[in-house]
Amino acid sequence: MEAHKFTIVGWGLAGATLAWQLYFKKEPFKVFDSNNNTCTNAAAGIINPIVFKRLTMSWRAQELLPVAKQFFEKVEDFLEDKILDEKGINKIFTSIEEQNNWSSKKNLPLFKNYLGPVENIENTAVINEFGVGKVKTIGNLNTKKFLSVSKIFFLQQQVEFIDSPFDYSSNSVDNEKIIFCEGAEIHQNPFFNYLPLKPTHGEVIIIKAPQIDFKDILNKNMFIMPLGDNLYKVGATYNWEKKEPTTTEKGKQDLQDKLNEILITPYEVVAHLAGIRPTVSDRRPLLGVHPQHPELFVFNGLGTKGVMLAPFFTQQLVDFILQGTPLDNEVNIIRYEKYLN
Ligand SMILES: Cc1cc2nc3c(=O)[nH]c(=O)nc-3n(C[C@H](O)[C@H](O)[C@H](O)COP(=O)(O)OP(=O)(O)OC[C@H]3O[C@@H](n4cnc5c(N)ncnc54)[C@H](O)[C@@H]3O)c2cc1C
Repeated sequence: MEAHKFTIVGWGLAGATLAWQLYFKKEPFKVFDSNNNTCTNAAAGIINPIVFKRLTMSWRAQELLPVAKQFFEKVEDFLEDKILDEKGINKIFTSIEEQNNWSSKKNLPLFKNYLGPVENIENTAVINEFGVGKVKTIGNLNTKKFLSVSKIFFLQQQVEFIDSPFDYSSNSVDNEKIIFCEGAEIHQNPFFNYLPLKPTHGEVIIIKAPQIDFKDILNKNMFIMPLGDNLYKVGATYNWEKKEPTTTEKGKQDLQDKLNEILITPYEVVAHLAGIRPTVSDRRPLLGVHPQHPELFVFNGLGTKGVMLAPFFTQQLVDFILQGTPLDNEVNIIRYEKYLN
């Protein structure tokens, strides 16, 4: 049997995306996962190139979006299955100023491919006094399905999956390279726990609302994402204090309070999920090689927009490892070398 050249530690969005990039390059790998991927499973998978608060483009969205689209469509071809859902995003305006700002920006060269027309949602259940602006995007990723169907695919390709935590004391063999994709659990990693992750706890609820039927995502300080069968994922909360990926009554109540400001319709909460986002204080991903261990690599810090970031930066990391192509300074972990003892 061929020796494994790569070991991926962690089967969340980061690890699974990296696995595909290695597969596309015909590089053999095996995977360790402690089966605790609550972050990727809780995620809505929304790919939003716009920062609504300031109505600006999200960091490098123009570069990231086409790469993400091409990547996920290529994965769909291999899987012969859909993982991207074609949903638009409707930003509900909170004032006439917000609507005017959208209208004045949408034809500017920077925004014209991303900001769509101002419309009204003709549905009495949705409070949208000032209308909505439609974001043009590539859809959203069914994150849970991406992990499960990718794993089935790779198992069929004889990839070894070890469903247990990685043993940090094990020695690397035969020039094997280990890439840690551990999300917020990086704090347990003795090699990379110096990296300054500032995890952000987040919760979502899933509601059943039998009297409404939307196709697109609604956003007004929160998202309401249709899942089909009158089910909607509603989120998310942001909490920088809570360290465990467990749900809270307060999180659920906060989400329902905000939801009630958008929707007037009976609904029932049928599920409640939580996860810890691997966020970094400078809001940039963390990738690169360990300064003292050339066989150890990290891919982390996907934060709140992991789906848009992961394809572009896993490709960059793989090119760095295989061809020595330099990493962008903004994402290279070398920026945090001063924290290494
Ligand atoms: C409520 C919520 C909503 C979100 N919505 C969106 C959204 O709409 N769009 C978007 O782009 N992003 C969203 N995100 C962010 C997105 O989920 C993250 O950026 C992304 O999932 C992080 O993926 P990851 O693989 O780095 O971490 P994780 O998903 O946490 O995966 C890490 C995996 O590594 C495993 N692991 C860790 N350490 C070890 C070890 N030592 N040995 C073996 N296995 C190990 C864990 O068990 C886990 O399975 C959301 C997040 C939350 C919490």
